[in-house]
Amino acid sequence: MQLRGTGVGGGIAVGTVVRMSDPLPEPPDRPSGLTPEAELERARTSLAATAADLAERGREAGGAAKDVLEAHALMAADPSLATEVETRVRSGSTAERAVFDAFVGYRDMLAGMGGYLAERAADLDDVSQRVRAHLAGVQAPGVPAPGHPFVLVARDLSPADTATLDLEQVQALVTAEGGPTSHTAILAREKSIVAVVGVAQALSLSDGDLVVVDAGSDTVIASPDPEELAEAERRIGARAARAEAPIEPGRLSDGTPVPLLANLGSADGAAEAVRLGAEGVGLFRTEFLFLDADRAPTVDEQRSEYVRLLSAFPGRKVVVRVLDAGADKPLAFVNDDVEPNPALGLRGIRALRVAEAVLRDQLTALAQADAETEAELQVMAPMIATVEETGFFVGLARELGVGVAGVMVETPSAALIADRVLAIADFASIGTNDLTQYTMAADRLLGSVASLQDPWHPAVLRLIGEVGDAGAKAGRPVGICGEAAADPLLALVLVGLGATSLSMSPSAIADVRASLLEFDRADVASLARTALAADGAAEARAAVRAAADALRAGAELGSLNHAE
Ligand code: PEP
Ligand code: MG
Repeated sequence: MQLRGTGVGGGIAVGTVVRMSDPLPEPPDRPSGLTPEAELERARTSLAATAADLAERGREAGGAAKDVLEAHALMAADPSLATEVETRVRSGSTAERAVFDAFVGYRDMLAGMGGYLAERAADLDDVSQRVRAHLAGVQAPGVPAPGHPFVLVARDLSPADTATLDLEQVQALVTAEGGPTSHTAILAREKSIVAVVGVAQALSLSDGDLVVVDAGSDTVIASPDPEELAEAERRIGARAARAEAPIEPGRLSDGTPVPLLANLGSADGAAEAVRLGAEGVGLFRTEFLFLDADRAPTVDEQRSEYVRLLSAFPGRKVVVRVLDAGADKPLAFVNDDVEPNPALGLRGIRALRVAEAVLRDQLTALAQADAETEAELQVMAPMIATVEETGFFVGLARELGVGVAGVMVETPSAALIADRVLAIADFASIGTNDLTQYTMAADRLLGSVASLQDPWHPAVLRLIGEVGDAGAKAGRPVGICGEAAADPLLALVLVGLGATSLSMSPSAIADVRASLLEFDRADVASLARTALAADGAAEARAAVRAAADALRAGAELGSLNHAE
């Protein structure tokens, strides 16, 4: 049986299902049929068993998870909590209800204290669930730990669940909810977990079912036949071989270079990016450095961060984006107004113009770091919508000593006037996450419209093509730095539309490199035409997949004929 969803990345895995159980409902508030002594005994046993189980898991997990789980064990063993439970049982509650109410009381108290303690309040819900699961004799909610590798099937994952995912054990992830830009999907991509999200029938899978999770073709095959299994094993082997393949610069089969660059949010990831073959940095998200800061970082503070980054890429291109503050990434020292619709408000370059001193300091720090290091620094501005904004940013960058200045194309406006924007900017870099959000008028944070958040949509691709054409005419580079570049199939279309480099999370580089090497310029141009001719995102993806398969088959036939 084949189930459909949205694949994240191009991975494939085979394994047995372990279902994550759903949270337990609130227990009914009805009088107990047992004596208070009997109920109390049940409650004490389950509290003690839960504390012991959490402590044991902590010992096994080690690292940061150990501290979290040990803290949870202490909550279950807390004597004043036990007293609260006893008081409630003695006044007639069931053990389930007494545990539920006692934990809720504690949670509300912690939440009221604010700060760190308030952040721990949600942890009490988790412990309460575990104690009540023990009382009911059912599996505790949360990520299961069956003691062997498994395919995790869940309705969706909470941030707390995802934080404790053991990558040695979880072979793949299948969720019923969530779209391609949901937190689950973003996290899965970041951690290189094979995942298919939004699989409506996921919950029809049962513990122990054998499944093939194929993110590349957006499917989950339940109870695969021997042929399907063999094909999956073949592709797993091929993928492992690609990851082992020698690291070389990105190019098409005819030698056309397509540099493969890294998206980074801190210099900490630089060494790993180089190891995975990044040829430079296509997007350094500087706002991630300062999300917690309540005052603007000084020029010196910034310079040392940028020196750390640039030093990791001597002789390589490093594109640093100036602060993209606002919407989902507000910075206390740039954004101070609560806006009704922040994605359409003072965000990116608009916010920086209001706080021009912050932008000046940032460009000054970048110019100083550039002078101290050997990388080829380029800067770019987020959320450009007009020619005038382009002129402002490029002018300021030059005035403050940064030689190469470009813009991100994230608004339909910038794409439609790319020819005029590129008459001023040195390069364009297309942010497909926001370009999709604004083209489709679908909030990228909202699960309910996630199906519209698809960069395969021909409307988005047409805009990308506009920028590609403008870049070719002006002789200016056009990079891609949104999530779309990490999709090995879509990457072909993007190059066919005129992208001259692709920037992505470093874990995606090997697959994209291998995909590019299979096709030449004429192939990718025809794949781009195929995508543009489709009616919708799903149709474009399916048509390009079929066309790519046909091109591969043709190439194989050609080489066989040649050999004869
Ligand atoms: C984008 O919008 O595609 C992009 C790369 O920027 P961010 O995801 O940081 O908004
Ligand atoms: Mg963006």
